[in-house]
Order: sequence, then structure tokens, then C-alpha cells
Amino acid sequence: MIPGKTRDRVEEVVMKVEIVCPSCGAESLLLRKPEYEGLKKVGETLACASCGHTFASEEDVPYKEHAGVQVFTEEDRSQDVKVFEKDEKDRLCRYCANYVVNPFTQWCGRHKKEVEATDTCGAFERRKESGEGEENEASPL
Ligand SMILES: [Zn+2]
Repeated sequence: MIPGKTRDRVEEVVMKVEIVCPSCGAESLLLRKPEYEGLKKVGETLACASCGHTFASEEDVPYKEHAGVQVFTEEDRSQDVKVFEKDEKDRLCRYCANYVVNPFTQWCGRHKKEVEATDTCGAFERRKESGEGEENEASPL
């Protein structure tokens, strides 16, 4: 039966599962060895890759994810995203002193090339806030 075969294969590929072994105390990998009776697979041996301690069943396996290593909560994650977005925004060409826009193109005055407002580059120079930047060269028109 083909679906069954496919499933067996997936199980064999997904072998590197991190555990925290209660026997040796190490952060280790779960060894998942199929047990055969003749040619028929009758089950699996679940063992610690570090000390060889075997677990009686799937429920006994101390998966690392379940062992309280959840450092990132949903809250942390969304904060990370906000910080990232801010950094990106701070370096966008549209906020750069070298960014020139006219009806035909968006132009980087430093690299002498067309840019997108959402581009970023290593030579970003913050444009002065309007009001204090009146000495800037006038509009290219
Ligand atoms: Zn162990």
C-alpha cells in the first residue's frame, strides 16, 4: 500500500528530534529505530542518542520543546517585528537626503541611478526634517 509506505519514509526522515534526557541529563537527540519482526515493522525503539536510555513510549519522550524552553512568546515575536520594521524604515531611500523624486523617476543623487522609494542602501543619509532643511537644493524641476 503506497500511502503506508510514504508515511514510513517520512517517519524515518524525521529522526533528529531534540530531547532533554532524564537519564543522563543531556540535551540530546532522540534515536528512533524501527523494530522489525522479520520483514514486518512492529514498532519503534525510542532512545537517547547520548546514553542509550530507551523510552517506553512516545509519551515518555522528554521532547525539548515540551521541557519549558519556550523563550519566545507571541508577544516577543511581534515586538521583534516592530523593531525590524522601524530599522528598515529608517534606511529607506525615500527618507534619504540623496533621494530625489520627480514626475518621471525616483533618483538616487549619490549613486546616480534610479531607485525605488522602498529601496535601502549602505550609504543612507537621513534627510533633514522639513523646516530645518530649507538650504537643501531646490526641487529638480
Ligand atoms: Zn541520555
